[in-house]
Amino acid sequence: MSLAGQLYKLQQLDLELQRKQQELNEVENQLSDNKALIVAESKLASQKEQLEDARKKQKGSEWELEDLQEKVRQIDSKLYSGTTKNPKELVNLEKEVKGLKSQIRPKEDALLGLMSRVEDIEAEVKTITEELERLKREWEQRQETLRPRKGEVETVLAKLRGDCNGLAQQIDSEDLNTYERIRLARGQAVVKVERGRCLGCHVTVPTSQWQKAKAGDVIQCNNCSRILYLE
Ligand SMILES: [Zn+2]
Repeated sequence: MSLAGQLYKLQQLDLELQRKQQELNEVENQLSDNKALIVAESKLASQKEQLEDARKKQKGSEWELEDLQEKVRQIDSKLYSGTTKNPKELVNLEKEVKGLKSQIRPKEDALLGLMSRVEDIEAEVKTITEELERLKREWEQRQETLRPRKGEVETVLAKLRGDCNGLAQQIDSEDLNTYERIRLARGQAVVKVERGRCLGCHVTVPTSQWQKAKAGDVIQCNNCSRILYLE
C-alpha cells in the first residue's frame, strides 16, 4: 500500500474510532441519566411531608372538636341534673352552652375540609409512588440493555485502537505529524482526487501533482493542503 493509501486507511480508522467513542459516551450518558428518578423521588418526599402535616392538623382539629363537645356535655348535665337551682346561674350556663354549640358547626366543617385534604394528598402519594416504581423498572431495563451494549462498543474501540496503533507504527513520524496537523486544522486530512479535482476543496489538481500522488508520493493539494489520494 502506498503511503497516501496508508494515511487514507488510518483516517478511516480514526473516523470510526471517533464515531465509536461518541457512541460509548452516549451509552454512558444514558446509563447514568437518573434525572427523572430524582425528580419523582423528591416530589414523593415533599408530598409525604405535606401528608404528615395535614394529618397532624386533622388530629388537632378532632381534639378541639372533642374538647368542645365534652364541655357542652358537662354543662348540659349541670343544667338538667337539677343540682343548679340559682336562676341567674342557670341563665349563664345556658348562654355558655349556646356559645359553645355555635362553635361546633364551623369546627366540624373545618375538620371535613382537612379530612378531604388528607385524602387528596394520599391519592397523590399513591400516584407518585406508582410513577416512581414504573421509572425504577424502566431504569433497570435500560441498565440491562445498555450494559452489554457498552461492553460491545468498548471491545470494538479496543480493537480499533490496536489497528490504528499498528498502522501508525508503519508510517514515518514526520508523515504522521503532517497528517495529524492537517486533520486538526481541516477535519479531514486525506482526500481522494476524482476527475482531476481535489474532493476536499473541489479545485482542479494540476496533472503533474496527481500523477505523483498516483505514484504513491505524499502530495498536498495546492489549495487546501490536504493530502491527495488516488487509488
Ligand atoms: Zn484541495
